[in-house]
Amino acid sequence: MPPKTKKPTAKEKPTATKKTTRRSKPIKKWSMYPSLDDEVSNLLREDNLVFTFHPNDEENTCLNGYDTNVMGRFACRNKNCTAVWTSKQIAITIRRYPNERYNARVYHQSCKRCLMTFKPQLDHESYAERVAYRIKKWCGVKMEAPPFKGRSDGPHRSDLCEGCKQGRCSKM
Ligand SMILES: [Zn+2]
Ligand SMILES: [Zn+2]
Repeated sequence: MPPKTKKPTAKEKPTATKKTTRRSKPIKKWSMYPSLDDEVSNLLREDNLVFTFHPNDEENTCLNGYDTNVMGRFACRNKNCTAVWTSKQIAITIRRYPNERYNARVYHQSCKRCLMTFKPQLDHESYAERVAYRIKKWCGVKMEAPPFKGRSDGPHRSDLCEGCKQGRCSKM
């Protein structure tokens, strides 16, 4: 048999092997709440402090960082579950950056029924008080003990708390 001349297959465009982008995006483990900046700023203004919300979540450039917790409520968005729960132990990390900037990262929690993870609806007051208190403290403002003292709502479930999983929860 005459040898078949094999045609070079190099005509194919190299783009044929385009990388497929990852389908599932990573589950978010925390959120920031820039919309609550007004309430934080109002409290800071009482002590003549003016800070702006820093939109970038940067661990390396911050001057100070502090892990604490705030109150809020969760509503499971899993249609087959729809559990709701409140928490007085939502982990947050408050950070101060150069040039009077700050931000706060709020850690998500998992539903104890279906284990899906969700971001909280924060109690605005407890968030603003906690964040403002910390910034004032960093700025040397003399204050009484924190105005917000959340009573315990049962043992903290580290297995459901993203703050604990990140090593950032003050309840750990
Ligand atoms: Zn659920
Ligand atoms: Zn925790």
